[in-house]
Amino acid sequence: MNNNRFHESNTRRQARAGRAADQGLPLSEPMIELHQVVKTYEAPSQPFTALRGVSLRVQVGEFVAVVGKSGSGKTTLLNILAGIDRPTSGAVSVAGTQLHALSESQLAEWRGRTIGLVFQFFQLLPTLTVAENVMLPMEFAKIVPAAERHPKALALLDRVGIRDQADKLPVTLSGGQQQRAAIARALANDPPILLADEPTGNLDEATRTSVLELFAKLNADGRTIIVVTHERDISRYTDQQVTLVDGRVADGAQPEADQLESAEVRP
Ligand code: ADP
Ligand code: MG
Repeated sequence: MNNNRFHESNTRRQARAGRAADQGLPLSEPMIELHQVVKTYEAPSQPFTALRGVSLRVQVGEFVAVVGKSGSGKTTLLNILAGIDRPTSGAVSVAGTQLHALSESQLAEWRGRTIGLVFQFFQLLPTLTVAENVMLPMEFAKIVPAAERHPKALALLDRVGIRDQADKLPVTLSGGQQQRAAIARALANDPPILLADEPTGNLDEATRTSVLELFAKLNADGRTIIVVTHERDISRYTDQQVTLVDGRVADGAQPEADQLESAEVRP
């Protein structure tokens, strides 16, 4: 992690301190801590170990990139951080909560207010308008009062630059606009953590850069952001880069070129 960046501006430090306090954490405590996490999938033919002892610390307000070849365990790692999947062994602490201590329903409730998720293929509901898509997580979590949900959705769409698309159906938007809508939806309950799985993987070059810049902007308000990505210039934006190789964190801060997938093999 590049500590210097955190000392650059008081504004950012204050934003991070605010996020930490919201979670009942001292600023010195990590927002995310994984200790020796192993994940073995019990496939019908034979078990497969996708994570082989991953340990990780992410400070409050850090912007982290997770890189690695296809199959190296990136999505498995994000699913464990989001409490969508549970590790076979090891400890996971996110935003001051030990995830193993939560039941499935507690995990779902915790996720609703703690984690915003962004996917490669946006996963907007096609029959709802863009604004309705953004309101959906508010309706599940019930943190934002009902009367404030629509204005809040419009404010979030404004923040990601597509306020004018609010009443349209997702299919009528460009890929970049759909991903912005999905990012607005991820911000619906103002989660302290944003997890994005190859969010630029389905976008053209110019749009990819503007979406990465949007993540950087969202990080400036103290939000902790973890992005799985193949973008080669992601390190311009991030504090920490985690390279996965066959389910392990590779040594060394910088990934080798052959650990990044090329744009040509992007699905
Ligand atoms: P990445 O996101 O880096 O491409 P994944 O985390 O999706 O990698 O997958 C890591 C490995 O675990 C892959 O070999 C994949 O085939 C395997 N895997 C992922 N999910 C399952 C599952 N539900 N059952 C069995 N194997 C799985
Ligand atoms: Mg993946």
